[in-house]
Amino acid sequence: MSRKSEDRKVAIFIGLVIVLHLLILISAREARSPALEMGEVVHLREVPEVASRSDLKVIIMGVDGITWDVILPMVDKGELPTIKRLMDEGAYGKLISQAPCLSPAIWTSIATGMKRDKHGIQDFIVKEKGSSKSNLISSNLRKEPALWNIISQWSEKRVGVVNWWATWPAEEVRGFVVSQRFAYRIKETVYPPELGGRLSLLSEETVDGMFHHIAPFQVDPHYRELPRSSSEYVDNYRLYFLKSYFREDANACSIGLSLYEELQPDLFAIYVKGTDIASHYFWKYLTTPSPEENLHLSTREQRRFGSIINSYYRWIDDIIGEFIRLMDDKTVLFVLSDHGFGLDTLDPKAIDLNLLLAKMGLLVHSSEEVDWSRVSPEEEYFFSDHRQIDWANTMVYDSSTPWDYKRRLYINLQGREPQGVVKPADYEKVLEEVTHRLQQLTTDSGKRLFKKVLNRLSEGGEGMDADLMVVFNNQVAVDDSLVMSSQPWACSNFIFSRGMSGEHYAREEGVIIVWGKGILKDYSIKQARIYDIAPTILYLLGLPSGRDMDGGVLTEIMELSLIRQHPVAYVSSYRTSSWTSDRKPVTSGVDEELKKRLKALGYIK
Ligand SMILES: [Zn+2]
Repeated sequence: MSRKSEDRKVAIFIGLVIVLHLLILISAREARSPALEMGEVVHLREVPEVASRSDLKVIIMGVDGITWDVILPMVDKGELPTIKRLMDEGAYGKLISQAPCLSPAIWTSIATGMKRDKHGIQDFIVKEKGSSKSNLISSNLRKEPALWNIISQWSEKRVGVVNWWATWPAEEVRGFVVSQRFAYRIKETVYPPELGGRLSLLSEETVDGMFHHIAPFQVDPHYRELPRSSSEYVDNYRLYFLKSYFREDANACSIGLSLYEELQPDLFAIYVKGTDIASHYFWKYLTTPSPEENLHLSTREQRRFGSIINSYYRWIDDIIGEFIRLMDDKTVLFVLSDHGFGLDTLDPKAIDLNLLLAKMGLLVHSSEEVDWSRVSPEEEYFFSDHRQIDWANTMVYDSSTPWDYKRRLYINLQGREPQGVVKPADYEKVLEEVTHRLQQLTTDSGKRLFKKVLNRLSEGGEGMDADLMVVFNNQVAVDDSLVMSSQPWACSNFIFSRGMSGEHYAREEGVIIVWGKGILKDYSIKQARIYDIAPTILYLLGLPSGRDMDGGVLTEIMELSLIRQHPVAYVSSYRTSSWTSDRKPVTSGVDEELKKRLKALGYIK
């Protein structure tokens, strides 16, 4: 046999093998469509094709802290016609949450299907590791892909996200993101960036007009000058924050409705939070669900604030109705809340620890007045101290949230802190002295101010990320006084009532209502957890669920025909190496602006 013909034979053989392989591949692919096996695990590269088989769309309306305890009596009175309709024509029940009910953690669990230790968003504020700096949470700290990341990467579908927790800086998606900081500087907080130029915020007059239907009061712009223990201060402070939250909600809904109408994304998710703040501040004035709990209130107070929560719910009901008018018949609507509310009789306090440190001569505030026009409501709410600190004369400081009973304190150490004055050689001595002085603080009735004072070098303090940690004694009351070397010092100087009467822990479960194509009608859901939402939404959009998610698809709410047509499938995980290694913190103008402000406040370098 000639060498040439042998070569030809080899070539023909290789050609046949290739053709055979291709045939096997094609037939395998054809065998896969039209239907997956129930519970089948598919490869990530197959997801786009699998996803194209569903033509359903989804809207998620996230409403912080709404609860059946308020909804049901209102529905009975005919006050929430849209929610009533959704219940009659959809599936509804309790959404089982996870304590502690911190909104950033739970809303990120809803969007990822994962527990908080996996997705990494644990709280409102984060401390940079190995440093004393605090910051508000941001999207780049999320360690797992959210629904909008998964859908953008693994399908041809489009997403739209408005005001969701931990979405700033806005991530790159197939669609749009109006991040959680949009109300701060709209042009730099959205994706795609060119969208910023098209969006605008409602005028103050418009917001005023809308807010009047919820709380018909004016906020005194100079309320911060009133004594913090006065009822005028507390009332103005509550209304100021309620209005700030409402302003964000009203803008989120107005932008959300117009973008939804124009772009009709396959997944649209919007979040509003004013119902949470209204419930914190005004729960005790509610006439339902427990009027007997509120009998001690004066009728004047009841008249003033008794309808705020219900009015906010009515406004939300109208907004849901507006979205329904824009939905087509292939869309499924989710109305969700992360936790409920109940009466809290503990009267939680805000503690301005830096004021106490100043009184003890350990910290000095500069004489400059706070320029409140430069402090956003979010910063005012989440950070204790907004005055400038005279760093050259400060030995120790606190930068926690005002309501934390457990605080981390930092020594103003040279070489670590931007304007550190405590020499490294004196560190131990200063730490021991500050610890000792804090431990000694006692009220005139003999109560210790702190239940615990630990430092890095003391027993039990090893591995602490702060220099000191203190735990407040909640037995200490505003009308107690501290024994100081000179004369007693009233606790009302640095401990303040937050004017709150509603809390999450009193009713941990939230709300779930699902309505639309393929969803059972007038169906009471047996068990739904926050972790089930992401798998269920992926399923409706035709995407497999992640095996590494902590929840599953809520098949109990679906019509049998839907499940038969689209069996539940899985991928092992949506977190690919590109997600973990290629993600860098996004920087934008607003980062710099915010950093400048935080720097001016002494929070960051
Ligand atoms: Zn809350």
